Amino acid sequence: MGRRLLLPHTRRLMLFLRPMRYSASATATATAGSLRDPLHVCVVGSGPAGFYTAEKMLKGREGVRVDIIDRLPTPFGLVRSGVAPDHPETKIVVNQFSRVAANPRCSFFGNVTLGSDLSLSELRKTYDVVVLAYGAESDRSFGIPGEDLRGIHSAREFVWWYNGHPDMCNLAPDLTNTDSAVVLGQGNVALDVARILLRCTTELASTDIADYALDALRSSTIRKVYLVGRRGPVQAACTAKELREILGNYKMCLKNVNVYIKEADLATSPADKEEMRNSRIKRRVYELLSKAATVHQENNDNDRKELHFVFFRKPTKFLPSEDGSTVGAMELEKTLLKDDGATGKQVAVGTGEFEELKCGIVLKSIGYKSLPIEGLSFDKYRGVVPNLRGRVLSSESETATVEPGLYVVGWLKRGPTGIVATNLHCAEETVDSILEDDRKGLFTDPSGPKREGGRRAEEQA
Ligand code: NAP
Repeated sequence: MGRRLLLPHTRRLMLFLRPMRYSASATATATAGSLRDPLHVCVVGSGPAGFYTAEKMLKGREGVRVDIIDRLPTPFGLVRSGVAPDHPETKIVVNQFSRVAANPRCSFFGNVTLGSDLSLSELRKTYDVVVLAYGAESDRSFGIPGEDLRGIHSAREFVWWYNGHPDMCNLAPDLTNTDSAVVLGQGNVALDVARILLRCTTELASTDIADYALDALRSSTIRKVYLVGRRGPVQAACTAKELREILGNYKMCLKNVNVYIKEADLATSPADKEEMRNSRIKRRVYELLSKAATVHQENNDNDRKELHFVFFRKPTKFLPSEDGSTVGAMELEKTLLKDDGATGKQVAVGTGEFEELKCGIVLKSIGYKSLPIEGLSFDKYRGVVPNLRGRVLSSESETATVEPGLYVVGWLKRGPTGIVATNLHCAEETVDSILEDDRKGLFTDPSGPKREGGRRAEEQA
């Protein structure tokens, strides 16, 4: 592939020289005379959203040169550091991305951090088009007492740790001081971390899990994992395929694990039934959980580990262990669901009844969060860059203008949801916007908006 690893003192220079080098072969790939040729595109971030964008740009227009930059020395972002090691089929997409990187019109520059090695304004001056695809590298937090106790990690940190991400290889989660782990949240990431904690290590040994993580999991004393959700089984954010891997009974599913679900939690209200009528995914998830509530309880082998689905519990405090050195329990408030009125969504409200759940490690799996960079508008509440079909807007206000030549894709564009393939459609939309602006001559006309300043967002709508 066209990967180049650059020394810090040379890479800045290289980055600024590249577009000029490309212009030497400009005429060979010329298309319509009015189009900028070549069109220099920089994609910031080499995860699925970044690579799908590069692929679609290269296919969508002749005379495009794409440079992909990433703060890490290695490409593929979340596919490398987010996908669980026991999901090799999801990682196969790196073959497709490697073919994109091998395209002579595409280059990868690792070890380049936007915001510190170079600024957004420098990048925008250098390239015709900049597409931000740097994802979500931080975490939502609860903001409740005790959140900074030792033994509490975000699921992202834990996932990066077992996937060998350089930022987290020294995390060293203590898996030996306790027999109980609490995972807060019931999305697919929560299922991933619960599965990795419970899966037999001889099975994990044949995956690409980091060696140090495998060693730590081999010595782990954790026998019980509690998956805690503030709402009920109908609202669990995981999907059926991922749940079946834990609850099912086929080759790759979890072995030697008893699953516990309280039958009382499976009672459904008219609003729950309505939710299930409107969503096949919710119906399937609920059916799987209901079935597991009866099937797995029959198996009483003492060697088996335990996975407890805890519904209708909202975290209110992280409590210290007796010696205060680490987290020792979660304080949870029982909840019930109420229609929030505005959106028609059922939300969890506290009942004022509390209980404690003992544990020695907590993994917070309540969602990833994108971070802003200097010079970029950012919706702090939603954690996304305000945009119109991928075109970055100057603000969230109604009078916002389109930032010329600046685009966004992936989790930074739409929030931290969706599987790898969701980025394909997301990239399609952003690339369609770029190509539309290109056809309008926005990247060629010296008096055009790319040079002159923003267009009103409504002109694009
Ligand atoms: P997610 O699906 O959004 O789940 C977040 C979970 O956190 C939900 O259960 C949510 O409950 C809970 N939560 C959020 N805020 C909370 C709070 N303040 N208090 C208590 N609970 C709270 O996020 P994710 O699991 O990080 O996954 C991100 C995306 O990656 C998802 O689209 C997921 O499907 C995808 N993914 C896919 C796979 C796969 O396909 N194998 C693997 C990993 C991730 P509420 O519903 O009540 O808000």
